[in-house]
Amino acid sequence: MDIELKLSETGKNLRSSLIRELLKYASIPGSISFGGGVPDPNTFPRHELAEIAKEVIEKEYAYTLQYNTTEGDDELVKQIAKLLERMYGITGIDRPNILFTTGSQQALDLLARVFLDKDSICIVEFPVYLGAASAFRMMFPQFITIPLQDDGMDVDYLERKLKELDSEGKIKNVKFIYTVPNFHNPAGVTMSLEKRKRLVELAEKYDLLVIEDDPYGMLRFEGEHLPALYKLAGPDRVVLLNTFSKILTPGLRIGMIIGRADIVRKATLAKQAADLCSPSLNQRIAARYLERYDLFEQLKPGIELYKRKKDVMMKALEEEFADIKGVHWVNPQGGLFTWLTLPDGFDTMDMFEIAKEKMIYYIPGQAFTIDDSVSTSMRLSFCLPPEEKIIEGVKRLKAVVVEYGKR
Ligand code: PMP
Repeated sequence: MDIELKLSETGKNLRSSLIRELLKYASIPGSISFGGGVPDPNTFPRHELAEIAKEVIEKEYAYTLQYNTTEGDDELVKQIAKLLERMYGITGIDRPNILFTTGSQQALDLLARVFLDKDSICIVEFPVYLGAASAFRMMFPQFITIPLQDDGMDVDYLERKLKELDSEGKIKNVKFIYTVPNFHNPAGVTMSLEKRKRLVELAEKYDLLVIEDDPYGMLRFEGEHLPALYKLAGPDRVVLLNTFSKILTPGLRIGMIIGRADIVRKATLAKQAADLCSPSLNQRIAARYLERYDLFEQLKPGIELYKRKKDVMMKALEEEFADIKGVHWVNPQGGLFTWLTLPDGFDTMDMFEIAKEKMIYYIPGQAFTIDDSVSTSMRLSFCLPPEEKIIEGVKRLKAVVVEYGKR
């Protein structure tokens, strides 16, 4: 059977993620990887979670081993309401405004299904979080990309684009603006308060919805906490996505959509069709964990660890790359990533062949474009390698760049 003849447009469109392909090499012994954006397993509270898991399976088995409602665990809603108040100063979150999803990746997928059609326009940042682009792409929308600057999205550019779309009568096709305002994946940058306010003003002016994706907001290791767009503009303008993946463990696969009741309701119906419900067990483990432990306190050592690793990477980059003209990189105030840009003429995908030889891995910027375009940038993640490996890895990276530059 020729399966190609049977495939849907979506099926034909599916491709293996570049990141997954590239990360295959990273497990070869002797290699150093700045590739994976996964948290350091040493930050997972494994003993605490193991104890809770045993307890809730034995004592609450009729709930934890059973199907759940699509909406999810009420106990977790109570805990999340408290957490959101501490994290964002958002009060009064209750059942109709929250849906638990299988990681925030599922939230992106559900929102794509709920909002996007073939003739829809969705506005994303450039570079864009690859997982969001993949989820949105399933619905075949048109993408408009807004460049990121050191202080977040270029809102002047956004304003010009919106004006243009309005004058062409296309603004009604814009379904949402998707942004990762804190410690962006992959760019590492954070949107300034001024830009947050301007983004919200533009959303008001053109009657647009903003999807605020904030998996890294709690991983701030320096600088002032900035208000969430959701806090600034409220649920009429903003849908907020969060996840336990970077602050507790990605293995539980618990994410959430926080928003207007009618939006959450539509996403709930889409989730029903997708997977009926998220695991009761995982949700109850998370609920009991939050009940018993102060997540903010528990996170402190992890945040310190990431800060130390980030500082080591920044120092190493300074030492190795200061003498190469036209190289710049982001000094993130939190999260897991920095973004390094090489001078014109470099192609970090092409350069990856040399990186493979020298056993140092990064994610070429091309992975974070909508149209697969050539990129002079790369994402470097500092969260996994030990400190001495970060120093050695940056040395190897310099050697890769020097060798490529001689070609
Ligand atoms: N959004 C962003 C910006 C991310 O970086 C990630 C994880 N890499 C996700 C969403 C998805 O996270 P999860 O599904 O693990 O909650």
